[in-house]
Amino acid sequence: MPSFVITEKCDGCKAQDKTACQYICPHDLMALDREKMKAYNQEPEQCWECFNCVKICPQQAIEVRGYSDFVPLGSSTIPLRGTDSIMWTIKFRNGILKRFKFPIRTTTEGSVDPYTGKPAPDFAALKQPGFFNGPARTE
Ligand code: SF4
Ligand code: SF4
Repeated sequence: MPSFVITEKCDGCKAQDKTACQYICPHDLMALDREKMKAYNQEPEQCWECFNCVKICPQQAIEVRGYSDFVPLGSSTIPLRGTDSIMWTIKFRNGILKRFKFPIRTTTEGSVDPYTGKPAPDFAALKQPGFFNGPARTE
């Protein structure tokens, strides 16, 4: 099931220009109702259920529930993001709780340059097959 916002918990990220869930959604699905100061998924059928918005929400106001054919009703998967890890709390339908802690990236946001060590763009090679960082062409 797509993400949904628990409106009682959402504070609209305190009216910043862009909310955390808007910032992180790779599909640009989250919107903010500025009158009510509540976020919502504006196109649920497009949701990838990637959990990004669930993990980043500072209020833990977003949930994604798995489809009932493989995640029984009554269960839940809730992440709690810390500074260096995420704690996942898994609740089974019979009430059993399990927790898993995984480390997360601690590099400063925006500090990673994906092009470090890669060659400069070569527009002359634009129509050649292959990738710019793939093996060198021999012909
Ligand atoms: S990140 Fe959470 S608190 Fe912020 S607007 Fe989205 S749902 Fe609301
Ligand atoms: S689960 Fe992923 S795709 Fe769906 S609204 Fe959240 S961030 Fe966007």
